This record gives sequence, structure tokens and C-alpha cells, in this order.
Amino acid sequence: MTFASLGLIEPLQRALDELDYKIPTPVQAQAIPAVLAGRDLMAAAQTGTGKTAGFALPLLQRLMMEGPEVASNSVRALVLVPTRELAEQVHESFRTYGQHLPLRTYAVYGGVSINPQMMKLRKGIDVLVATPGRLLDLFRQNAVKFNQLQTLVLDEADRMLDLGFADELRAVYAALPKKRQTLLFSATFSEAIRLLAGQMLDDPLSIEVSPRNVAASSVKQWLIPVDKKRKTELFCHLLKKQKWTQALVFVKTRKGVDELTELLQQQGINADGIHGDKPQATRQRALDRFKAREVQILLATDVAARGLDIDDLPLVVNFDLPIVAEDYVHRIGRTGRAGNTGQAISLVCADEVNMLAAIEVLTGQLLKRVDEQDFEPEHRVPLTDASGQVLKKAKKPKKPKIVGGGGKKTLGKWLESADEPSAPPVKAVRKVPSFNTGPKKKK
Ligand code: AMP
Repeated sequence: MTFASLGLIEPLQRALDELDYKIPTPVQAQAIPAVLAGRDLMAAAQTGTGKTAGFALPLLQRLMMEGPEVASNSVRALVLVPTRELAEQVHESFRTYGQHLPLRTYAVYGGVSINPQMMKLRKGIDVLVATPGRLLDLFRQNAVKFNQLQTLVLDEADRMLDLGFADELRAVYAALPKKRQTLLFSATFSEAIRLLAGQMLDDPLSIEVSPRNVAASSVKQWLIPVDKKRKTELFCHLLKKQKWTQALVFVKTRKGVDELTELLQQQGINADGIHGDKPQATRQRALDRFKAREVQILLATDVAARGLDIDDLPLVVNFDLPIVAEDYVHRIGRTGRAGNTGQAISLVCADEVNMLAAIEVLTGQLLKRVDEQDFEPEHRVPLTDASGQVLKKAKKPKKPKIVGGGGKKTLGKWLESADEPSAPPVKAVRKVPSFNTGPKKKK
């Protein structure tokens, strides 16, 4: 199958040739003809499957072939994404795919001045990529109008709900024309997402390109049991022993990111960190440097790292397990992309056993446990099975074994004074507030 056989116009095919995309990925093969035909779409697609091109290419084509020229302050296609980084990344994809088309694209998000965004919107924008909060600010200040809107894309919809954007989505939804095309992409499908889809989509085509909630098989995953207070020490040990060339490391709290970054930098390691408290320009710079391989270790909270596309990332480390089990799938989806192989290592302490159990239920597989010599924990991580059962309570060891110093700074200490709440009991599928948006749209 070729992109030409999917019915894409020549300027798009030329852009794909220049990118050396030879054949459509499965999500593209299914999504492109459906979107071109004007259908609504509900797609379960992991990051790394080529889903961005799956919606961007047909959407650009429809904008070229149909509809009036964009009016001042109007948008013709709106792509909602959960984070600023993803807004930049998705916008960059639109720019690249649409480089031979006379369409205007733009990205708006919070954390940067709103005035230049208002100025830019004056001329009208064909494709606007936006985070929900900033889009609403702009809408309430009359800087953006939706009367010309023909397509809405919800990218990483599950993440938007997880991040608490349900109210913003409801407000945006209320402002949109009822007659429009809607495309919903989500890596995982919780009840809340299904509810959202039921309310926003009209007879959607369902696409599922990989088994639900299962990470790409090209990612080799395992966990290393460790005492909480020795995680930092183990991390530094593995970094040296395994000679990590580049790793994306997930840490639970912003403070944890800052402190581990500082510690690594003090040891002469080229590390940087991104989290929600950092200014957008700093986050983007750290990310750009990581992508350019100028940074060896990038530490991040989930919010900052969602959906990022980093070529050939060999390793993801879960310094802490995620509170929401679905985030595990997203995190490890940063590696093993576009056919490459990757590794995902989780450092797991006894306190995290409920999170581990939830991840294993979600992915339907037990995470292999690999002890690291001299780091076997005093507090054993209780055994789990893939049904969510914790099989054995942690036993107190008869004779505590003290190996190594652990240093002054331990993560345990950081988390006590952490700036984010500690983990609630974890369920495999988290319930989020219902998304009641009033009457279903008519086409
Ligand atoms: P995505 O899942 O949209 O984040 O895309 C993952 C990566 O795959 C990106 O780096 C894309 O540039 C790349 N990609 C998307 N579609 C294709 C294709 N048909 N052939 C080769 N690479 C692709």
C-alpha cells in the first residue's frame, strides 16, 4: 500500500517523500481514507504508531479541498492536546506535512504571553493546535471564533481527562458548531473516555491498531526491587554499570526531578529536568537539547513528558512508578518507537506494590523481577499476580543487611516534603468525573 493509493494529493505525497515515509503505518492506512470521507473516528493508538500523520494528512487535505478561506480570528480545524510540549510537537508535524500547502497553522498554550498569540490569531488560522486552558482564555477574550470550524481532533484524550481538563473540554465543546467532524485519539480507553466519545462522536469508525493497554512488544521491560531509601544510589550505580547512553527518567514529584537532576549534575553527568513548574522556554530548551543528544539524562514528571516523540530513545527508567497505571504504558511508549527496540527499567520499592499490581492488571502481564546484586531490599516487594492480587505481605527480614552508604540525600526524604500528594490506593482503571456535555450533536 502507498500513500498515493490512500488518495492523498500530490503536495502531501511530496512532503512524505522528502521525509522518506515509504508505506503508511496501520493506523494511517485505516484513518486516512475514513477522515478523507468525512467520518468521525475513535482510535486506540499508542504513541509511536504514526497516529499524528494519521489525522494530520487527511485533515490538511480536507482543508485544502473543501470549505471557505479562513476569516479573521477564525479557525477551521482545532487539535486539542494535553501539554505544551505536545502542542509544539503536533504543530511541527502539521508544518512539516503541510509545507507545500498554502495553509496557516499555529500552536497556542499556557505558560507564555497571550498577546502575541492574540495578534497571530487575527489573520485567521487553518489548523490551530491548543491546550484546553489557553484556548478557553483566548476564546473568552474573543481572540478566536469557531463558526468556521469543520474538524475537531482530541489527541491523547485520556490524558486530558487525567489532567483534569474535563471542565475545559466541556466549555470548548459548548462553543463549537454542532455540525463538524470529530476525531478522538486515546492510548487507553477508560469508561470516562467511552462516555466522552459517546457524547462527542457521531457514528464513529473504531480503529484499534494495537491490543488495548499493552505496550509495544519492541520494549523489553523489567523491574529491580529496591528499598526506597536506596533508589538514588541504585540509579547512579546502574547508570555507570550499564553505561546508559541516553535515558528518559520519570520521577513522581517536581521536587524529586529537581533534586535528582542537581545530584547528577554535581557528579558531572549531563542531566536536565522538566516539570510543570518550569517556564515553558526552559522546558522546551531541555527537550530540544535531549532530542539533539546534548543531554544524556532527562528527568521528567508525567505531565511534562506525555506524548513526546524522541527518535531512537534506547531507555526509559521509572525511578518511581506512576500513580495512574495507564501512565506506565505512556511512559514506556517513549522507547521502542517506529520499529526500534527499547528498554524500560522500573526501580520498585515495597510501598509501590499496589501501583505495580495495577500496572500488571492493565498490561495483562507480570513485570519480570531482576535483583541487582548488593541492592536486594530489606523490605521485600510483595509478590503479585496479574489479577491485581498482592500475594504475600512484606516480611521483616531477620537480619537487616546494610550495604553502602546511601548518601545524605535519599529520595525517601525528598518525597516526605514533596510538593505533590502521595499516591492514593491505585485501581487499574481510574474513574474520572463524568463528562456530561448536554445533548448529542446532530450532523
Ligand atoms: P507518532 O505516533 O505520530 O508520534 O509518530 C511516531 C514516529 O513515526 C514519528 O517520528 C513519525 O515521524 C514517524 N512516522 C509516522 N508515520 C510514518 C511512516 N509512514 N513511515 C515512517 N515513519 C513514520
